[in-house]
Amino acid sequence: MQKKWIVANWKMNGNLKLVQDYLETFKDTQLPHQLIVCPPSPYLCSFKNQNDFLLGGQDCHEYNSGAFTGNVSAPMLKELHCTYVLLGHSERRMYEKESSELVYQKAQAAQSAGLTPIICMGENEHDYAHGKTEEILAKFLETLQSLDRSNLMIAYEPLWAVGSGRIPDLEVINAVHQYIHTILPGIDVLYGGSVNKDNIQSILNLPYVQGVLVGGACLDAISFHNMCSL
Ligand code: PEP
Repeated sequence: MQKKWIVANWKMNGNLKLVQDYLETFKDTQLPHQLIVCPPSPYLCSFKNQNDFLLGGQDCHEYNSGAFTGNVSAPMLKELHCTYVLLGHSERRMYEKESSELVYQKAQAAQSAGLTPIICMGENEHDYAHGKTEEILAKFLETLQSLDRSNLMIAYEPLWAVGSGRIPDLEVINAVHQYIHTILPGIDVLYGGSVNKDNIQSILNLPYVQGVLVGGACLDAISFHNMCSL
């Protein structure tokens, strides 16, 4: 199989022990895919620059610095050896009320700092059931047209699949990815939502899918390593 991306999103989970587990478990292993690990920002320092995987942030602010208590900027992530940043995750759109316009501004800040944004988007269950997935995605994608496409990834994450244990049919995943490629040609598109050891291989085998974004299943280093090695 062609080498694809596996992105581990710890969300607000983990601790120094999980950092250590990752460093030990993924040391000197040759994975068949390229791994990007996105821990909470306070743990980025513990990873330094010599890992067997790439590092990503889980979010960044749209400004590089300033009086924005509690936020993290793209240049800060870059300084801590990140090369990627997740943006517009459904949990941020929902709990932090992030709009697509704000996600676009954050993506601009990320690209200016030399990070590749991985922009998440997906439809809710009602829209999925009513066949509106492409319509919903078209609106998200429209807002990203002026970003630098040579430095951009999309993660298709149906809201109803994130953390639910359910995924769309494989043919649907492939077709949605194909659709995203027609709107934004030339970029890598990942699938996210309840990826686990039982479905990762069949999802990564889909021709229009360039990788997966994993939440819950990445929180145990050994089982995640096994999953990445399949
Ligand atoms: C995610 O957080 O982006 C995600 C896909 O979570 P999970 O794998 O737990 O569904």
